[in-house]
Amino acid sequence: MISQAMLEALKGFVPTENIYLQEPMSKHSTFRVGGPADCLVALENEEQLRKLHHYVHLAGIPFFVLGNGSNILVSDKGYKGIILQVGDRMNQVRVEGNRVIAQAGAKLSQVARVAMEHGLTGLEFASGIPGTVGGGVVMNAGAYGGEMKQVVELVKVVNRDGEIMELYNSAMEFGYRYSIIRNQPFVVTQVSFLLQEGDKAQIKATMDDLAARRREKQPLEYPSAGSTFKRPEGYFAGELIMKAGLRGFRMGGAMVSEKHCGFVINAGNATADDVMNVIREVQRQVKEQFHVNLEPEVVFLGF
Ligand SMILES: Cc1cc2nc3c(=O)[nH]c(=O)nc-3n(C[C@H](O)[C@H](O)[C@H](O)COP(=O)(O)OP(=O)(O)OC[C@H]3O[C@@H](n4cnc5c(N)ncnc54)[C@H](O)[C@@H]3O)c2cc1C
Repeated sequence: MISQAMLEALKGFVPTENIYLQEPMSKHSTFRVGGPADCLVALENEEQLRKLHHYVHLAGIPFFVLGNGSNILVSDKGYKGIILQVGDRMNQVRVEGNRVIAQAGAKLSQVARVAMEHGLTGLEFASGIPGTVGGGVVMNAGAYGGEMKQVVELVKVVNRDGEIMELYNSAMEFGYRYSIIRNQPFVVTQVSFLLQEGDKAQIKATMDDLAARRREKQPLEYPSAGSTFKRPEGYFAGELIMKAGLRGFRMGGAMVSEKHCGFVINAGNATADDVMNVIREVQRQVKEQFHVNLEPEVVFLGF
């Protein structure tokens, strides 16, 4: 619960119209499921973020940093705490020589397009990932042989004291769908990508090709969070799930995609519980049949 005193404090940091109470998280998750968050604050700039992040730490209020919600599953019960949304209102992108410098709320697709327009190569792989720059860096998002680790030069974050820190690539401890920020109370505000000069037409052709491959292989017509599970060493999650006989496996409104078994999708009116039940059952059956642990890539919130 957000008390009146907390609400008054929030209003001191951000305009009232940026504060949403009992905000349905189904509106902010690409799974299109999830109950209400006590409060969601849409941030507009670094200054607001600095003050708010410091405040929630001092006041001991549970909080969660939200990008585009393309890798989260929020419980039907919702979230008891404050959602700090670093999204559309913090999406400025600029180019300086071979560097693209983006606010954390910019979409990866937007940043890849700006790079392409400036004849800079390196971000083509990210053009079809539906997340923000912040979420992409935190998750070390990757596709088609590319990952954030290869192109990130410098990450600007706000720490729990509301101070700005700059982390060079080497300090990010990038790993498979991992960066140090997954274990630290840092909020990404800006990222500098160091790219190479390339041929604009070639860059565009690569992006078009990757988009076509996604459309062909992935169930983009259904709400989901992309690949539900991490790739287990030596295997492909989708292949194991298919071999386990779970293609099209359904519980309530959630199911294993028939097009790509690595995706659990919202096939219509799913609840978060339906999605979670499918995830758990897939994990159980794959473990039982192949002795492989499927670890979710999706971040769970409020369970
Ligand atoms: C159709 C589809 C296809 C996908 N394809 C891919 C793919 O090819 N490769 C891939 O890697 N992923 C893929 N994903 C998953 C997802 O898009 C990525 O993980 C993306 O990087 C998540 O970004 P986001 O902004 O949506 O983060 P969210 O889902 O909002 O958050 C994810 C995590 O990042 C944290 N976070 C977000 N922003 C910040 C910030 N500014 N500061 C600190 N922490 C933050 C959150 O707290 C959370 O822990 C796909 C998803 C979908 C729906």
